[in-house]
Amino acid sequence: MIIQLEKNVKTSEIAQIKKTVNQIGYQTNAVKTQSGNFLIAVGKAEFDIRRIGQLPGIIDIHRVSDAYKLVSKKWRVYDTEIDLGDGVKIGRKQLSIIAGPCSIEDESQIKSTIEHLKANQISMMRGGVFKPRTSPYAFRGAGIEGLKLFSSYCKANNIKVVTEVMQVAQIEEMLPYVDVFQVGTRNAQNFNLLDALGKIDKAVMLKRGFSGTIDELLQAAEYVYSNGNEKIILCERGIRTFETSYRNTLDLNAVPILKEKSHLPVIVDPSHGVGLRNYIEPMALAAVMSGADGIIAEVHACPEKAASDGQQTLNYAEATQLYDRLRQTYHLKKSFNGW
Ligand code: PEP
Ligand code: MN
Repeated sequence: MIIQLEKNVKTSEIAQIKKTVNQIGYQTNAVKTQSGNFLIAVGKAEFDIRRIGQLPGIIDIHRVSDAYKLVSKKWRVYDTEIDLGDGVKIGRKQLSIIAGPCSIEDESQIKSTIEHLKANQISMMRGGVFKPRTSPYAFRGAGIEGLKLFSSYCKANNIKVVTEVMQVAQIEEMLPYVDVFQVGTRNAQNFNLLDALGKIDKAVMLKRGFSGTIDELLQAAEYVYSNGNEKIILCERGIRTFETSYRNTLDLNAVPILKEKSHLPVIVDPSHGVGLRNYIEPMALAAVMSGADGIIAEVHACPEKAASDGQQTLNYAEATQLYDRLRQTYHLKKSFNGW
């Protein structure tokens, strides 16, 4: 149950609400987010909602019995739109395209990617500087100095920075240089990291764990939200199955289900989802038709020379064709939905 409180609710009023809710047999958790004040009540007892509905300080009460609550669509009529500033927004009936290399390598790569993005009216660039790699001997990223360089070129060109944070201790030093903190699939249930990202005022993109359920992804999002940060983007990036013909199984079933269960925007990562360059475009287009709010794709001037994930990275010509077709597909999707 979500008890939505008035912005200026008094401490004494909260105490009275808590007392009444506890008497009914529910435990309460206070949550203060960027736009609201809530008490999340967890319990099983049946009761008449009028027992608390009239108490002072309450705006509304929503019965949400799922394990995740604030990220649920059951209490929010409108989908969340995340405003990254300078007119860049994610979610709510618009197509967002995020593109860039798997890893930030050097200055010339950053400059060349930005030129490519600008030529295609793309205003969000991805690029890892702290790379989770299966092998400790693989390239592990350009680190904070790489991020500073990445950010300086992006700022000068009005492009938003999307990059992965791997641990709590990195958040503070990364904060001035990042617009969207990506939580990678390997950290999908790093609850300390999720708690910490809930306490900042920057967008967070949560990738689905490669063996994580839809419900677990939503509960990971609830960690961030319940710590106060509402700016969350969900990302389907493929799960591990018995299939070995491709890197991961891009679970597009998850997209309409996530869109139905949650008000948060959903982005699809076809690059990691299928892991093979030739299949990125069809899967990205399918993702748009499945209801995704956007796509995040790996792009490099010369994928063969990329420091990581070259096999699933598009070159600029392939990427340009993808953006055009994504936009056409989104147009079609809109007309189907009567938007
Ligand atoms: C990435 O985006 O480069 C990445 C490592 O993603 P994931 O966590 O989905 O593997
Ligand atoms: Mn990658």
